[in-house]
Amino acid sequence: MKKRTVVVERPRVFLVPLPEQADVQGLIGAVEQLWVAMKLKAMIPKGGLVAIKQHFGERGGANVVPAPVTRAVGEQVKAAGGKPFATDSNTLYNGRRANAVDHLEQSREHGFSHETLGFPVIIADGLKGEAQVTIPMKEGNLKHVFLAGAGYMADAVVVLTHVTGHLVACMGASIKNVAMGMAGRAGKLQQHHSAEPIFSKSKCTACGRCARHCPTAAITVEKYATLDVKRCIGCGECYAFCPHGAVSFEWSETSEALQKKMAEYCLAFHREKQGRVVYINFITRITKNCDCLGKEEPALPDLGVVASFDPVAADTAVVDLLTARHGHDVFKEFWPQYDARIQLEHGERIGLGSMQYDLVTVGKG
Ligand code: SF4
Ligand code: SF4
Repeated sequence: MKKRTVVVERPRVFLVPLPEQADVQGLIGAVEQLWVAMKLKAMIPKGGLVAIKQHFGERGGANVVPAPVTRAVGEQVKAAGGKPFATDSNTLYNGRRANAVDHLEQSREHGFSHETLGFPVIIADGLKGEAQVTIPMKEGNLKHVFLAGAGYMADAVVVLTHVTGHLVACMGASIKNVAMGMAGRAGKLQQHHSAEPIFSKSKCTACGRCARHCPTAAITVEKYATLDVKRCIGCGECYAFCPHGAVSFEWSETSEALQKKMAEYCLAFHREKQGRVVYINFITRITKNCDCLGKEEPALPDLGVVASFDPVAADTAVVDLLTARHGHDVFKEFWPQYDARIQLEHGERIGLGSMQYDLVTVGKG
């Protein structure tokens, strides 16, 4: 009997090259070329709620995907019959984006508002990160993940990612943008730490708020709050509700563990969208640190914009193109102790996507 040969089609990654100092018009032009070349109109459901997921920037941060580009994407979504909204989730750390009120104010200061975009900005995980959906998992190490409500419920998603280095993940591209930005508070906690909360006796006033909001009754408050470790599921409610800063976590997650969890979060999100998600990486204004750190000068000249329906392929192309341009792995140069390929290899292993791809150059920016 003849053996059947199964031909597995490799994902395509589309590239629009850009000059070394690309301007906003160049970025808009790149997105418009990608929209046509990838036939993105077809993934927009008529009347569907379409999330444009991106980072709005921490105070002073000028490197994020600019608001006029977001607006241009939204116009394409509208032309295809969808209803766009720009979105990101709140941060765990106490910056300008730790709750929806501050986050919307910060976004507006960077040009992201209904008035400037022509469509709403919605914080994906609610006022304080509580709007999240629990998804069971079996592909990797995590048994369940917590996705931000608005990202989970969106009918289609355009992920706009400003590529950066990262002080733990080594590289932040589409996988990281989705993993953190489309996770609720418990999801970010789960990715960033592997331990239960720590209660400070000296800061605790025994007000009892944490215990009232703990979903598993893991906290007892007498003279101060104490934890029953066996009951704790790491949801972070106590951290969010403590008004006195008495709850903290050990932010000790290793780069390898974090990168693997990121890939698993991205998988949960990607699978949910069933083909209605595209990942667009802007290889522009690349910094050693992520955009959460605010102001930082770019470390590398601009290269271009790549996009794929496969997040592993899209992010692998970023590493490959930068390595080809500079002759070495630039993320390894930023963070010699880490390896950005861990998130890509784990993503491939669990079925998120492929590190093998075909590069299609669609135009010049
Ligand atoms: S992390 Fe969640 S489950 Fe654990 S003590 Fe805090 S509120 Fe309770
Ligand atoms: S909410 Fe904070 S201050 Fe109040 S009991 Fe819990 S840990 Fe102590």
